[in-house]
Amino acid sequence: DLPTIYVVTPTYKRLEQIPELTRLAQTLMNVPNIHWIVAEDTNTTNTRVVEYLKYTGLPYTYLLTPMPQKYNDPKYKGKGKPKGVANRNAAIDWIRNHATEGVMYLADDDNTYDIRIFEEMRYTKKVSMFPVGLVTQAGLSTPVLKEGEYYAWYDGWIGGRKFPVDMAGFAVSVPFLLTVPEAMMPYTAGYEETGFLSSLKIKPEEMEFKADNCTKIYVWHTKTHKNSPSSRNILNKLYDGTNL
Ligand code: UDP
Ligand code: MN
Repeated sequence: DLPTIYVVTPTYKRLEQIPELTRLAQTLMNVPNIHWIVAEDTNTTNTRVVEYLKYTGLPYTYLLTPMPQKYNDPKYKGKGKPKGVANRNAAIDWIRNHATEGVMYLADDDNTYDIRIFEEMRYTKKVSMFPVGLVTQAGLSTPVLKEGEYYAWYDGWIGGRKFPVDMAGFAVSVPFLLTVPEAMMPYTAGYEETGFLSSLKIKPEEMEFKADNCTKIYVWHTKTHKNSPSSRNILNKLYDGTNL
């Protein structure tokens, strides 16, 4: 009767997609009572992803969640792109329509997760917070506590944000999420986390600070090297004929 952890993973097709999903899947295969919501930035089913999800044996939901067309405009190129926002908002709506208990965690496909992070968040009452390693040149994004209570946020980029935290640094209880039907993630690059947490109308004083008073790092904001497009040809030959 463990509470379910709804792990929301935005993903998109590129050479590194299956390797990323492999690492994350094989982490999740070691965690009880997971429901993996894989939301892909595309209009068309990616059969290779679906085949891999079936192979894992994990309970999953695969959603087609393309980024709205307007963000293809050159003015959103690079740092302006709201990466994974359409995916996460669609997954949040799916949870609203299908879940009644448990906790939601927004887990990008390229991060590295110690399985202990899932047990830290499982009994979240409203919103729980924890450190994330390798975020910005500061190396870490974390709440700062004083005598076990919220004191400040530490992050290499504050950017005027009310909640200067990383996407992987918090989890939200599903019953709490259901009490805030208007909560959603804004399409403003860099301000997704603070916008979403603000829309939940939660105060730092109401948050739960986990991972041994935020002294342990159980999740890392790793970034994967982009591989040469030339490796696509050889991989497609070795694989089953579906194009990477
Ligand atoms: N993502 C996506 N569409 C895109 C780019 C990224 O769905 O066009 C997903 C990606 O798979 C990841 C999340 O959005 O789960 C964040 O992207 P990324 O890791 O590239 O961002 P960063 O960590 O560099 O901010
Ligand atoms: Mn990333």
